[in-house]
Amino acid sequence: MHFVFITGGVASSLGKGIASASLATLLKSRKFKVRIRKLDPYLNVDPGTMSPYQHGEVYVTDDGAETDLDLGHYERFTNQSAKKSDSISSGKIYSNVLNKERKGEYLGATIQVIPHVTNEIKNFMNSDLNNEDIIIYEIGGTVGDIESLPFLEAIRQIRNDKNISSALIHMTYIPYLSSAGELKTKPTQHSVKELLNAGIQPDIIMCRSERAIDKDSISKISLFCNVKKDSVIPALNAKSIYEVPSLYSKYKLDETLLKHLNYNPRKYPLNLKPWNKLILKINSLKKVVNIGVVGKYTNLKDSYKSLNEALIHGGIENSSKVEIKWINAEKINKKNVKDKLYNCDGVLVPGGFGVRGIGGKIEAIRYARKNNLPYFGICLGMQLAVIEIARNVLRIKNANSSEFNSKSKSVVGLMTEWVKNNTIIKRNINSDKGGTMRLGSYKAKLKKNSKVFSIYKKNIISERHRHRYEVNEKFISKFNKKGYIFSGMSPDGILPEVLESNNHPWFIGVQFHPELKSRPLTPHPLFVSFIKSCLK
Ligand code: GLN
Repeated sequence: MHFVFITGGVASSLGKGIASASLATLLKSRKFKVRIRKLDPYLNVDPGTMSPYQHGEVYVTDDGAETDLDLGHYERFTNQSAKKSDSISSGKIYSNVLNKERKGEYLGATIQVIPHVTNEIKNFMNSDLNNEDIIIYEIGGTVGDIESLPFLEAIRQIRNDKNISSALIHMTYIPYLSSAGELKTKPTQHSVKELLNAGIQPDIIMCRSERAIDKDSISKISLFCNVKKDSVIPALNAKSIYEVPSLYSKYKLDETLLKHLNYNPRKYPLNLKPWNKLILKINSLKKVVNIGVVGKYTNLKDSYKSLNEALIHGGIENSSKVEIKWINAEKINKKNVKDKLYNCDGVLVPGGFGVRGIGGKIEAIRYARKNNLPYFGICLGMQLAVIEIARNVLRIKNANSSEFNSKSKSVVGLMTEWVKNNTIIKRNINSDKGGTMRLGSYKAKLKKNSKVFSIYKKNIISERHRHRYEVNEKFISKFNKKGYIFSGMSPDGILPEVLESNNHPWFIGVQFHPELKSRPLTPHPLFVSFIKSCLK
């Protein structure tokens, strides 16, 4: 078993997540058993309560962990499901240490960053391993941040551990100064010094850059940073993120790493056929389809990362480039909705929390429903479709969700008890905001002869959830009478999971998040079908 650590220097947002995922893809394509795990330096216990504005989307795993969006990249690239135990934050580590201290597990010792916090980090790195050949640990943040120091110290210690062979890849940024007409390596030199301060010598330096990196710069980095020339690997921009693995392999990232780990790369030939086929498809998309995504966090695209990717996957499968028009729900009203959705071939309302922008989203749904424009509602987008239909078709004037108005007619409300793994889980209006949601994979049963059944082509599906509120089953028959069918239900028949319209070419709302399971090599059927209908 080998550990590979990936740290970042010079700047944040270098795409370390995609780099880690791409490296894993290359190793997996050489038939290694690989796993990627993420360590984040922030002090939140998990990203569940962090604003998508600041941190991007919260990614949810099958086993119900609310994690960093990088785990989404890992899954999409490696085609392997991540687990709760694949991500941890400093907050969680400190909270573990403090819990142990309260329980008296440290036998009266003074609790310190070294060794108690660093041991906890090492425990995480060594825990829940399943005979993988290579485990990649991506360290969030930038080297030099105060928060990341304990991680670097833990890495330094673990690399001295006798039975663990490891390599460290440091990803930096090489800026281009137009006034000098040169790429500049000094920031990289400084960030490697930061690593050296922590007692760590990188084995490989990956250089993100917008321009091709010349030989002189490579030599300089090699000389000043004390790594071999062939271990300085350019990491240039790719047209599509899915081209990154093959781009990195051209610069021999995988080969170089394997040599560091004492493998003979020739014995593990690289097979990138499925990825090359995908890239060919991406580079020959013939049609364009415009999708209006009506949401709240439309300024930061990372807030809807998986959704963005799932739409692209659905497009590729239909030989189409998906142009996403991000529409701020707060700017939509009855009067301008037509203009706002002008040119959109389909409308999607994604998941979300809180009352802001609800009115605009409901208007967009009404417009799509009345004008036979394909509509895809995800989680909140399904709940709002239910509210819209209840108000405008069933004529329940004050229909609402108790999330937005507790005194209204709750067609969507809190499910105060539900069952997971045979235990009853309870929540009420005063429950903590963190960790009280229906989270992770749950099964749903699809009605034969329904549209979703024809899309999934199976009876039982399993999809990931992240929500507190549920559609109130008491209203089901009223919806049925008007041609709005709950064609997917939880296996016990209590929780509505899918809503579809019999009077519309493509009007589907789902209580779960299908975007979390879409992968470029296996696009999600709902997205494929949605895009197909938008093209009509
Ligand atoms: N706010 C809604 C709920 O908690 C929807 C959540 C979501 O869209 N993920 O049920």
